[in-house]
Amino acid sequence: MISRQLMALACLVLWPTLASAWTLKDVGTFKFEPLANNVYVMHGPKEEPNVKNIGFMNNPAFIISANGLIIVDPGSTLQVGEHVLAEIRKISKKPVLAVFNTHIHGDHWLGNQAIKNAFPDVKIYGHPKMIEQANGGNGANWVDLMSQLTNGLSKGTKVVAPTLAVDNGALIKIEDQSFRIHHLSNAHTDTDIMIEHVDSKTLFLGDNSFVQRMGRFDDSANMHGNIKALQHAVALKLDHYVPGHGQSGSADIAVQPFLTYLEKMRVSVTKGYRAEKPDYKIRNDIIGEFAAYKDWAGFDSNFGKHVNKIYLEIEELEF
Ligand SMILES: [Zn+2]
Repeated sequence: MISRQLMALACLVLWPTLASAWTLKDVGTFKFEPLANNVYVMHGPKEEPNVKNIGFMNNPAFIISANGLIIVDPGSTLQVGEHVLAEIRKISKKPVLAVFNTHIHGDHWLGNQAIKNAFPDVKIYGHPKMIEQANGGNGANWVDLMSQLTNGLSKGTKVVAPTLAVDNGALIKIEDQSFRIHHLSNAHTDTDIMIEHVDSKTLFLGDNSFVQRMGRFDDSANMHGNIKALQHAVALKLDHYVPGHGQSGSADIAVQPFLTYLEKMRVSVTKGYRAEKPDYKIRNDIIGEFAAYKDWAGFDSNFGKHVNKIYLEIEELEF
């Protein structure tokens, strides 16, 4: 009898949470989980934007200050941003005071629009080059790309770019919470900022790190710079690291695997380059050394491109 009562009580307590979690059919259930004191992260799907995930694929996060909230990367479209805000609302009803955008790729920041709609005075921070590119052709291209990839599910999404420029070394105080900005050089793109939440010893890495997922390097990227950025991240000796995609955790979980991949690739491709092998030959010769990464989402489509990109960087450095 007691166990039946307990069961009924458990159902009453658990049911509202289970029933209200954000569910994307055939993709998964998504909600914010505590990572550190006052810090929450929602780990998004690892697949590329598509109709099923409605374009959602990143790791939105928020920090609770005395009287408000600070969001990092609110997602990929107006609609995703609205879902992200609804999930935040299940944990805190405080107003959103600020948003940080880690870089120009639209899956991280096109959700700004939903936050700005709800909180017109919100302050949005980004790297100066991100602001320039978001307001230029790159921002418009990302709006179009999200529409194509989701078959129009992002309808109505518009560019709402950051207006406050932050660069390496900036210290931003928002009420009782402090944030330090890290940007050493071009890495995943030329617009990356890594955001350190000083109070909880957490680093938001943006796409400078991935876990269980590979990403592409665009024309502005520098893989050597990406290695430097991740070495810097580890040297900060923080307690928590949040990658752009994939699971958060200690440096060993959220930074070291991708850093090791990039360092290993630099060593292997340099060897092949010095042996005067063409990049396609190097690719075929070294792919076996990367067996530990073959299950990461996007490995097959990205591995050859990564070899080619770092080969060109090595060539440029050697001359
Ligand atoms: Zn990216």
